[in-house]
Amino acid sequence: MKKIIAVDGPAGAGKSTVSKIVAARLGYTYIDTGAMYRAVALKVLQSGKSAEDVTENIDIKLDEAARIFLEGREVTKEIRTPEVSRGASEVAKFGFVRKKLTELQRAMAARGSVIMDGRDIGTQVLPNADLKIFLTATVEERARRRFLELKEKNLAADFEQIKKEIILRDKQDTEREIAPLAQAEDAILLDSTNLTIEEVVDKILELAE
Ligand code: C5P
Repeated sequence: MKKIIAVDGPAGAGKSTVSKIVAARLGYTYIDTGAMYRAVALKVLQSGKSAEDVTENIDIKLDEAARIFLEGREVTKEIRTPEVSRGASEVAKFGFVRKKLTELQRAMAARGSVIMDGRDIGTQVLPNADLKIFLTATVEERARRRFLELKEKNLAADFEQIKKEIILRDKQDTEREIAPLAQAEDAILLDSTNLTIEEVVDKILELAE
């Protein structure tokens, strides 16, 4: 069966980690829409051009291994910096950016058997998805996970700073006028604060069945 699963939620709730595993278990394609907003932000930062100029002819591709390519060049790691996170939340406010990326996302989902994660997938991009999940966790827990992730990679990490950035990004994403972060009426709320990755994966697989 060619089904579509939409996963939305705030920054750091574990959407991509969980969606990747669910995709592998079901033999689905995983589509990370946040990476696409990040790619637009990276292009703005690197080119010095406006978001509007950059978006018009932008070439963004995701492959089966969830690697992301901007104008044919792989940028999978480059888009993960705090600067690009902030930039992504900024460019995500513009209607012309959202329109362009939404079109690309719908085209990618057209063949079915996909799990797509983001902020507006259940509400705007794929309102007819077969299963919609809204994945959350407390801010403290989401900041704690990011902090541990960075520590594990031996990267500099400041818990309070991470928490501040998450709060700011959630606020921008929730309060923007176009396609804000929101739980779709028919989405199932999953609070992962006290759940392991495996437990969240199992719940989604159960619901998918
Ligand atoms: O999911 P991730 O944290 O990588 O997303 C980066 C930013 O891209 C978000 O903070 C949000 O502003 C934007 N975004 C969006 N709509 C999506 C996915 C991401 O506005 N569907």
